[in-house]
Amino acid sequence: MPLVDSHCHLNADRFEGDLDGVVDAARLAGLERILVPGWNVVSSERALDVVDRHPWLDAAVGVHPHDAARVDDAAWAGIVAQAVDPRVSAIGETGLDYDRVFSPIPDQHDNLRRNLILALETGKPAILHCRSAGGGREAQDALLAELRTAGVGGPAWAGVFGDRPQGVVHSFSGPVDYAQAMLDLGLAISFSGLVFRRGEEASAAVAAIVPADRLLVETDSPFLAPPGAPRSRNAPEWVAITANWLAERRATTRAELGPGLVAAYDHTFPRTRPRG
Ligand SMILES: [Zn+2]
Repeated sequence: MPLVDSHCHLNADRFEGDLDGVVDAARLAGLERILVPGWNVVSSERALDVVDRHPWLDAAVGVHPHDAARVDDAAWAGIVAQAVDPRVSAIGETGLDYDRVFSPIPDQHDNLRRNLILALETGKPAILHCRSAGGGREAQDALLAELRTAGVGGPAWAGVFGDRPQGVVHSFSGPVDYAQAMLDLGLAISFSGLVFRRGEEASAAVAAIVPADRLLVETDSPFLAPPGAPRSRNAPEWVAITANWLAERRATTRAELGPGLVAAYDHTFPRTRPRG
């Protein structure tokens, strides 16, 4: 049964000792596509290293809201240089985090804007992280406003992306009308083990309305272990648990869902190299 993991940090320290074994286990579990996003310059470079070691994987480079205040202009120039690399299929992860404000919110917005510009310039979709504090939606509404200001969904972006999604709402969290607004902009939505957490109940309704060609699933490894996966370290093979949940929400089976997930992944993430 084919599966994808559209977002996992195999470039994190916690995979350094046994990366090959983790990728082998993923392959055995049916994963046919894996995307490894960076969160700053060093982790983006390490995402490229992971893809060198396992060429069927894809990388993304960008700056996470947590790191927004720590990436100066010189470091950003490094991300821009990495972004055109053929191993890179997306820009990110970036976005807004109003929950754990590790970087000041104005810096997060500046960072998001330049990541979005880079996505438009490269034609590679922006991977968007978004969290509000305690059941709120302030960050989601702010993200939507930033996307609209950047022209996402408009003619400039459509001219570059054609019918491909211009961004991915990663590890979805938020109300149904927010999801619908993101879908109206043409974005893809990716679900993680977060859907099993208290306070994320709206995700069940959202899972039912995402068009198949913009539906993705992910682990966000090593974080967000779904029930049944080791809490100490999530890994791509456990994406099956969230895929089963998605299939139930969509009144289908994982066997039927799987090929569509691979097709949506390929539609979303451009790749110029043979997968091998
Ligand atoms: Zn992530």
